[in-house]
Amino acid sequence: MKPAPFAYERPRDLNAALSMLAASNGSAKIIAGGQSLGPMLNLRLVQPELIVDISGLAELKRAEVSGGELVLGALVTHADIEDGRTADVTRGAMRGVAASIAYRAVRNRGTIGGSLSHADPAADWISALAALGGRVTLRSLVGARSMAVEAFVVGALESALQAGEIVEAIHVPARSASAHWGYAKSCRKTGEFAHAIGAVLVDPTAASARVVIGAIDTAPIVITDASELFGGRIAADYKQRLDVRVADALLAKAGIDDAAQRHIHVSVLKRAVQEAAA
Ligand SMILES: Cc1cc2nc3c(=O)[nH]c(=O)nc-3n(C[C@H](O)[C@H](O)[C@H](O)COP(=O)(O)OP(=O)(O)OC[C@H]3O[C@@H](n4cnc5c(N)ncnc54)[C@H](O)[C@@H]3O)c2cc1C
Repeated sequence: MKPAPFAYERPRDLNAALSMLAASNGSAKIIAGGQSLGPMLNLRLVQPELIVDISGLAELKRAEVSGGELVLGALVTHADIEDGRTADVTRGAMRGVAASIAYRAVRNRGTIGGSLSHADPAADWISALAALGGRVTLRSLVGARSMAVEAFVVGALESALQAGEIVEAIHVPARSASAHWGYAKSCRKTGEFAHAIGAVLVDPTAASARVVIGAIDTAPIVITDASELFGGRIAADYKQRLDVRVADALLAKAGIDDAAQRHIHVSVLKRAVQEAAA
């Protein structure tokens, strides 16, 4: 199929893009890498009057380490991260996640900001960045606001973005030397979207852990204080202490009624914990 007709603008700078979005009263769609929006346009799942192409905005391509965190412009691609063209404050965690997204052709064009904005529950960055403690900065003509990734993704294909707003940057805190990282997913075929994701950042020295169960039908389950998942305390033996009944109960609470589905999610989470502890 072909998209319904639309007008097309390619603004020169971020302010011009924001003005176009504000003037459109919600009838415009941003395009970044086009890897999700392109198919949606072709299938006529979206029929915007105007497409605002932000792919030329240099302001959104920057990547820098500032104040102990990595600040990535929304247009940084998965391949930029995979290839190490951006600094890696996560000691390889982000690089590994980027390399596991889809196929190289998708990674060359797909952007981190586009992936978060699209808020597909099966997408990698929404789970990985929530586990890493990432934050998002949104900008509009009125100003900027910032929120945790888990607050930004509010449901399946639903984000906190309001009309006139752009995801400007993603902030990723540096991973401490004592923190362990594990990321696992289950896909029918390599390069396809996952149907279960487990992401864990465990710091036994600090007795803290962030755990994410992703690729469920809604926003990922983000457990910021995960001690209950590890039998009440997080210590060096956390791998042995993972309580799969707690994970299963969280999944049931999130509305996953099928025990087999819950089992797949719990198994993938176990793999992520084992990877972290390895
Ligand atoms: C075959 C295939 C397989 C894939 N497999 C995976 C996978 O395994 N894992 C995975 O995580 N992803 C996967 N993807 C998705 C891919 O990662 C896309 O890059 C990503 O979903 C969207 O990024 P984009 O830059 O292409 O955004 P676009 O397609 O341009 O935009 C997506 C949405 O976000 C909005 N948007 C884009 N940028 C911004 C911004 N800065 N501010 C506000 N709104 C914005 C757009 O308006 C649109 O609604 C796959 C895609 C394809 C085609």
